[in-house]
Amino acid sequence: MEKTIEQIKKEALKELEAASDSESIKALSVRYLGRKGAVTQYLRNISNLPKESRPEAGKKANQTKRAIDELFKNALKRLEAPSYETDNRIDVSLPGRVTRRGSLHPITQITQQICDIYIRMGFDVAEGPEVETDYYNFEALNIPKNHPARDMQDTFYISDNIVLRTHTSPVQPRIMEKQKPPVRIIAPGKVYRCDSDLTHTPMFHQIEGLLVDENVSFGDLKGVLTTFVHQIFDPETSLRFRPSFFPFTEPSAEVDIRCVICKGNGCRVCSHTGWLEVIGAGMVHPAVFENVGYDTTCYTGFAFGMGVERIAMLKYGIDDIRKYFENDLRFLRQF
Ligand SMILES: [Zn+2]
Repeated sequence: MEKTIEQIKKEALKELEAASDSESIKALSVRYLGRKGAVTQYLRNISNLPKESRPEAGKKANQTKRAIDELFKNALKRLEAPSYETDNRIDVSLPGRVTRRGSLHPITQITQQICDIYIRMGFDVAEGPEVETDYYNFEALNIPKNHPARDMQDTFYISDNIVLRTHTSPVQPRIMEKQKPPVRIIAPGKVYRCDSDLTHTPMFHQIEGLLVDENVSFGDLKGVLTTFVHQIFDPETSLRFRPSFFPFTEPSAEVDIRCVICKGNGCRVCSHTGWLEVIGAGMVHPAVFENVGYDTTCYTGFAFGMGVERIAMLKYGIDDIRKYFENDLRFLRQF
C-alpha cells in the first residue's frame, strides 16, 4: 500500500518534469489531485484497508497529496513569473526607485560642528532645563529684579518665578553649584524670546561656554575664541573684540569677525561695516562666583555665548532665519 502512494508521487514528478507550459501543469494537477484524480482515488480506497493501518496510511497519503500540490503550484509560479525576456511591461533600462533618506537638520549639524571644536579644546558638554527659574535665568547671573538688562530679553513667563530660559547662561551657575573648579564646559540648547522677524525667531539655539580655573586671563578667552572662529569659518578670518556690557561678565566684549560674505569690503549682511557680530563674551563677574560660593581671590574665568542660527546663516549664506523652521524640504535637502 505504502509503495503505491510513493509510486503515484514518482509518476507525478516524472510527468511534471516533462511539462513545459502552465496548461499542461494545470491538466496534471486535475489528473492527480482532481475529484477523480489518482491521489484522490487512493485516499478514498484507504477505507478498504484493515482498520488498524488506516490512520497511518491516511496520514502518509495526505502528506504526499500536499507535497504534490505544492510542487505543482511552485512549478506554475515559476512559469508565470514575469521574466525580462518575455514580459515587456518591465523596462530594465529605467532608473531604479530611490528610497528617500532623512538627514540631520542644518542647526543640528552646525551645533555638532561647534561642539566638536570645543570638545577638541578640552570642554565637556553640559545641559540645563529649558523651563527655568527666575533665579538661574536672571538673579544668579547678577541680573536682579528691575535691572534694566531684563528689558533686553523679551521673556516668556510661565508664572512669576518660572520662565522659558532666554539664554543658555543659567547652565553656568547650575554647573558651578555642583562642581568645584576647574570647570570647562559648553552648553548647547534651545532658548526662547518673544521676538520674530527676519533675524529673530521666538525659539532659537545658543551655545554657552564657561572656563574657570586659577590664573585664567582675558588672553585665554581670546585664544579660545580665535581658535574657534578659525576652525568654524576660515583660518584667515580676522577677529576684533569690542567693549560691551553683560551683567554677568566684567569686562565684557562683543566679538566681531571680518565679514565672510564681502571679505570686509562692505555689503548688506554686514550693514556695510565689513564686520559681523558673532559672539558675546567676557570675564565672569565676581558676583556670579559669589552666588555659587567660589573663592574670587583664587579663581577667575571667562564665559561666552553664541547663536547657532547666526553662525549657520553666515556659514551657508542664508538671509532669513525663519527658513530653518519652516520644514521646507527644498531648503533642508541642501545641507
Ligand atoms: Zn559684508
